Amino acid sequence: MEPIPYGRQHITSEDIQAVTETLLSDYLTQGPKVAEFEQQFAAYTGAKYAVAVSNGTAALHLCALALHVQPGQRVITTPITFAASANCVRYCGGEVYFADIDPATALLDLRAVRRLLESYPKGHFHGLIPVDFAGLAVDLEEARKLANEFGLWIIEDACHAPGGSFVDSQNREQRCGNGQLADLAIFSFHPVKHIATGEGGMITTNRHDLYERLLKLRTHGITKDPVQMARNDGGWYMEMQELGYNYRMPDMLCALGISQLRRADEGLMRRRVLAARYDAAFANVAAVRPLAGAPGHAYHLYVIQVPDRKRLYDALRERQIFAQVHYIPVHTMPYYQRLGWNPGDFPLAEAYYAHCLSIPLFPSLTDEEQQYVIDSILEIVRT
Ligand SMILES: *Cc1c(COP(=O)(O)O)cnc(C)c1O
Repeated sequence: MEPIPYGRQHITSEDIQAVTETLLSDYLTQGPKVAEFEQQFAAYTGAKYAVAVSNGTAALHLCALALHVQPGQRVITTPITFAASANCVRYCGGEVYFADIDPATALLDLRAVRRLLESYPKGHFHGLIPVDFAGLAVDLEEARKLANEFGLWIIEDACHAPGGSFVDSQNREQRCGNGQLADLAIFSFHPVKHIATGEGGMITTNRHDLYERLLKLRTHGITKDPVQMARNDGGWYMEMQELGYNYRMPDMLCALGISQLRRADEGLMRRRVLAARYDAAFANVAAVRPLAGAPGHAYHLYVIQVPDRKRLYDALRERQIFAQVHYIPVHTMPYYQRLGWNPGDFPLAEAYYAHCLSIPLFPSLTDEEQQYVIDSILEIVRT
């Protein structure tokens, strides 16, 4: 049996052809594939606008800049996420606050967020960054209520959830990143994510003001749009109007993204089939507790909780099964401890971390490989 990672990309001959075509074209970066990928990704999520960027972290940074995060501002996120969800606030000098998770889903607990918001005067907090952890959509309808009540903006970190959704109180399907409830949503195209381009990211929004600002910030703060420029010296003229970055996504990676996006629904269906098989295999096993599922779950990760996580992790490695832990709580990282956070601050997140393990889940995982993973886990937890 080949080594089995927890997640991996799936590259087809069509993907390779799409990339080689752009290599032979006039554009390696900033050609026609960028806008094409943006339009198709916007259509996939249901959002009005999409902005392709160099990676998911750059997407988060640009969102924080576009929302004018600055020193003195306070933003709430979850401790169970990749550090970048919090770091983007720090890049802009803002302060990160955390609230604890819901132990059934490991998602940010919006009741804990409300308690945090209510424990300070109104205006104390400026933004909320919920994460569709593991592919389960956060209840953005509830988050939007909080945002409206307390004057917050929302960045939805949807890196785990392209194609994911939840059903709102009006019985409407709300797709992750559709721009209806969050101000901005971000995605990553890192190889373990649903759509893999190596490095790459996307921001979606329905707000035209933010869209325009993101386009400028993505490319050094420079505009060539005559309507936006203070003067015009000639055909060469452009204006750097504010301090931006080079966070562009190259044409050849956008071509790969377009090709991958065509198979996104197929991959999502396969992920759901695999997750259902895991659900069934562990249904009557007391020692293996999967996180709660839901119909719109995008299953980036399949997370189980076991009494002795280290033992299971090590024993699986001996069998060439490379499970992973998502995540070490962000507030316990040395950097965040230096900012004043301490182990013990978010007991539910820490209890979750002590027992969680993400087991292999990716579209090209075969039925035989999955059976080997299931048999191995059952054998290890029963001895
Ligand atoms: C992958 C990921 C990111 C960062 O994306 P990169 O493309 O690796 O920069 C941010 N947040 C979450 C939840 C992620 O899973």
